[in-house]
Amino acid sequence: MVDRTKCISCGGCIAICPVGAIKFVDGKAHIDPKICVKCGSCQNFCPMGAIDISVPDPADKPDKKTKK
Ligand code: SF4
Ligand code: SF4
Repeated sequence: MVDRTKCISCGGCIAICPVGAIKFVDGKAHIDPKICVKCGSCQNFCPMGAIDISVPDPADKPDKKTKK
């Protein structure tokens, strides 16, 4: 997931993702878990440390009670 409080919307992760899984949603980067292949490139790149691909974004799990 992307920590929206850390993301500065630099767009680097979007440019670096080999499968185009990241898009801006409401001005912040968002990873589409259906497209992401967990290569780690975005996490390694992000200058703000905003990305942790080992943690799923709660917003992408409508079956879960936890809402962000
Ligand atoms: S690289 Fe990091 S700071 Fe830049 S848009 Fe992606 S998540 Fe946000
Ligand atoms: S881990 Fe790789 S495939 Fe997934 S969003 Fe980041 S750069 Fe794209």
